[in-house]
Amino acid sequence: MAHDTPPNNAPGNAAKPAAVVANFLRGIIERDLEAGTWAQRRFGGSPGDGAHHAAGTPDPARIRTRFPPEPNGYLHVGHAKSICLNFGLARDYGGVCHLRFDDTNPEKEEQEYVDAIVEAVHWLGFDWEANGTSHLYYASNYFDFMLRAAEALIDAGLAYVDEQSAEAMRANRGDFTTPGTNSPFRDRSPADNRARFAEMQSGTMPDGAAVLRAKIDMASPNINLRDPALYRIKHATHHNTGDRFCVYPMYAYAHPIEDALENITHSICTLEFEDQRPWYDWLLERLADMGLLNRPLPRQYEFGRLNLSYVVTSKRKLRELVDEGIVEGWDDPRMPTLFGMRRRGYTPASIRAMADGSGASKTNIWLDYSVLEGCLRNDLEGQAARAMAVLDPVPLALTNWAEVFGSSTHVEPCQAPAHPQRPELGQRQFGLGETVWIERDDFAEVPAKGFFRLFPGNKVRLKYGMVIECTGCEKDAAGQVTKVLARVVPDTKSGTPGADAVKVKGTITWVGAHDAVPATVNLYDRLFTEAQPDAGGRDFREVLNPDSKRVVQAWLEPALAGAQREDRFQFERHGYFVADRVQHASGAPVFNRITTLKDSRGT
Ligand code: ATP
Ligand code: MG
Repeated sequence: MAHDTPPNNAPGNAAKPAAVVANFLRGIIERDLEAGTWAQRRFGGSPGDGAHHAAGTPDPARIRTRFPPEPNGYLHVGHAKSICLNFGLARDYGGVCHLRFDDTNPEKEEQEYVDAIVEAVHWLGFDWEANGTSHLYYASNYFDFMLRAAEALIDAGLAYVDEQSAEAMRANRGDFTTPGTNSPFRDRSPADNRARFAEMQSGTMPDGAAVLRAKIDMASPNINLRDPALYRIKHATHHNTGDRFCVYPMYAYAHPIEDALENITHSICTLEFEDQRPWYDWLLERLADMGLLNRPLPRQYEFGRLNLSYVVTSKRKLRELVDEGIVEGWDDPRMPTLFGMRRRGYTPASIRAMADGSGASKTNIWLDYSVLEGCLRNDLEGQAARAMAVLDPVPLALTNWAEVFGSSTHVEPCQAPAHPQRPELGQRQFGLGETVWIERDDFAEVPAKGFFRLFPGNKVRLKYGMVIECTGCEKDAAGQVTKVLARVVPDTKSGTPGADAVKVKGTITWVGAHDAVPATVNLYDRLFTEAQPDAGGRDFREVLNPDSKRVVQAWLEPALAGAQREDRFQFERHGYFVADRVQHASGAPVFNRITTLKDSRGT
């Protein structure tokens, strides 16, 4: 049975990488470490301002990275890329990676998602305990500092309260070819701005009535530096701070501060934040100038997003799939969420191998889904115990059974290795009797050229059992085969002397009708028929695969009666299957197909 490697709890450590693939981020970190860029930093033991860290000890972490999800949905395979990158770099360079909930937006965030994210990151094999500290943080715990920093910027003449209408503000921002226009509120005095900002916080102003903006340069060629907003008014209850605040920081203001308070060294984000970097640096430099933060300051580095073919990863689109009932929930085994992939049977190691193998570059990448499936097969091949299962059953009657064995209820004991390369896993036991279940397509009344399985007059081996010779079949009124007929060939039992005397070209899998376990098996396939379901703005609903889920009633070999939820097996000839972590029960087994044995699509 396959088991996941437990998370490694060593300080600053996390699941082992599949293989180290050089990338530009490693290059940057290695140069930094060599130059001692971060060597003099002190850490206060918890997030805090410059004074807090200055009073601490030399930072035991050589680098600090963070994975900063917004708790507004479930993590997906794209997030796994970011998790493996951030936790992996920290692990490889003696650093620590923080799990930080970027929960500065009061409206969309929920505890349910916080819990699910914690569980998913742990499941992937990563941990944020290091040096005796749990580095799990909430950006909303930094709201007080963010207000203090805003006030310091106001006092330094670097921020102002703007009361232009939203439309005027937009119009005055200009565009790529036109410089912006200064707001009429731009030259208010610091005292006036302080009073107006206090009023914004007092609750008397409605949403949208004013924003606090940095005072930088309305003519900057980088639109992000045209007096970016720091705070907006939002009368909303926050999951952590309740009704304490009615102003909330903008993401682009909050994020650099979060990094700095946590002593992050390398703030790694996706490419779309590249144009924000000058603003990230501007803000932190000013706060350091004013003594609120220490140098060296965190630095932002951007890498390309990971996209997987045949998958959508935008949270909004995933939510639509759930809300419209196209899938059966966030953990539907067809979903590219980590919960969906877990339920589908993907191993954490296979997802890490895919993420680590895809490196990090300066362009967004499309990875073919078959790469992930390849990682999965590599991982499962050596682990998953083998079993026989018949997914599209038809009975096969051995018409000379009683004649050969003296009784129609006689059962011949058979055995097979649990894993062909792992003798320590022992043998599986099952019986061959007068009637067995076989796959419907292992029989052909009239064989096509090259068909070596059952057809009248042909002999095959029942795998790990005996050689049989097909004699015909029975059919119903509609011409559907209801029973295949064969005769057992005496003295051909696998593993007994002379068993190979009768040569056959085909071997088929089977389970005994007397000891088979009935099971529900979900045969999953891609959710979409196109590699880039939402390419060019196409509605992904137009390319849904109508056969992405097929449910069959199957027969399994008796050893599977003891399967536990999340145990993974290779059903011989069929692929890898997992006992469903939600619906599987002893007495009522439910298995999901993880993937087939080979990539039969040739993609
Ligand atoms: P979505 O677009 O699905 O809503 P997001 O980026 O808004 O995703 P966050 O919760 O903000 O979701 O993401 C947390 C981290 O994961 C961010 O640092 C983000 O850059 C990273 N991330 C999200 N999707 C991908 C991806 N496809 N490839 C690499 N990193 C990703
Ligand atoms: Mg985001």
